[in-house]
Amino acid sequence: MTRLRRNIADMAGYVPGFQPRDGQSYIKLNTNENPYPPSPKVIEAILAEVGEGLRKYPDAASSAAREAAGRLYGFDSDWIIMANGSDEVLNNLIRAFVGEGQEIAYVQPSYSYYGTLAAIQGARVRTFGLDPDWNLTGFPERYPGQLFFLVNPNAPLGFCYPLSFVEELAARVEGMLVVDEAYADFADDSALELVRRCDNLVVTRTFSKSYSLAGMRLGLAVARPEVIAALNKIRDHYNLDRLAQAAAVAALEDQDYFRDCVAKIRRTRDWFSTELRVLDWDVIPSSGNFVFAVPPHRDGLRVYQALFDRKILVRHFSDPQLAHGLRISIGSRPEMEQTLAVLRELA
Ligand SMILES: *Cc1c(COP(=O)(O)O)cnc(C)c1O
Repeated sequence: MTRLRRNIADMAGYVPGFQPRDGQSYIKLNTNENPYPPSPKVIEAILAEVGEGLRKYPDAASSAAREAAGRLYGFDSDWIIMANGSDEVLNNLIRAFVGEGQEIAYVQPSYSYYGTLAAIQGARVRTFGLDPDWNLTGFPERYPGQLFFLVNPNAPLGFCYPLSFVEELAARVEGMLVVDEAYADFADDSALELVRRCDNLVVTRTFSKSYSLAGMRLGLAVARPEVIAALNKIRDHYNLDRLAQAAAVAALEDQDYFRDCVAKIRRTRDWFSTELRVLDWDVIPSSGNFVFAVPPHRDGLRVYQALFDRKILVRHFSDPQLAHGLRISIGSRPEMEQTLAVLRELA
């Protein structure tokens, strides 16, 4: 297709985790979805929007959702932008700050979509590896690129950098530092407070994992008002539909339900990690709703296949840094017990 831009013709395209057509018959631990349903108040709020009112456009500014997020996180609503999934705002951040031929950077391994977004934009990519203590290898005193993506807690490995590291990184990055906090609700810390102090910091969040709303496509970002204003110029003006806006408000306002789900997942994660270690697996202590773990024979692909044959889906990455292990999402306690039973059998 010779009419295509060169970078689009050359790029591979992002490959999402496998979504089986008959999802019900699998234990699905491959895309870090939440095993619990969304809050009943969210379902109610969505149903209340379904009707005659759908003929009208939604609020282009998603004001109610931004105000609910602002109350929860302690920011004025002009520090917040809502997104059609946090993927949308990651995309718009590159479009706002990185020109063709300019550079972005991220840690290898981290969320592979950053590379896809850079390829679409025609940006150059630099990656930094990790030493055994998770320090970035070869990171310069001043990083001159336009934008650095830090996923914290790290996906797919699950470890978490302390806030002091994030703040130091913000000082060393000359461009924007985007902290992708897709999993921060399962961790002890968040960089949200740093946004007030560091003028090049953006924090992104998603409703897909901790709020059980992957199917609604909801995310947000917190940054200085001038950054939010720039992102507002770029996004689709009606990026959140009426159902999504209602869902976001109800989800953010039902913190009791949210905290209960997160606590259950954290407990199951810590118990599951301990049980895997009993089976001689090497488990990275996780601050997310998943664990990255290496089976005793370091044969990630074989274990992936054995689980798949028993209708348990986990994530195996072919990247040589990751191929010996598996990323396993934390499901309900019974789902994890069933998974462990199979892993014991294989041992
Ligand atoms: C799941 C995930 C996202 C995407 O979130 P959506 O809101 O579903 O688009 C972004 N970053 C990381 C690291 C994720 O794991």
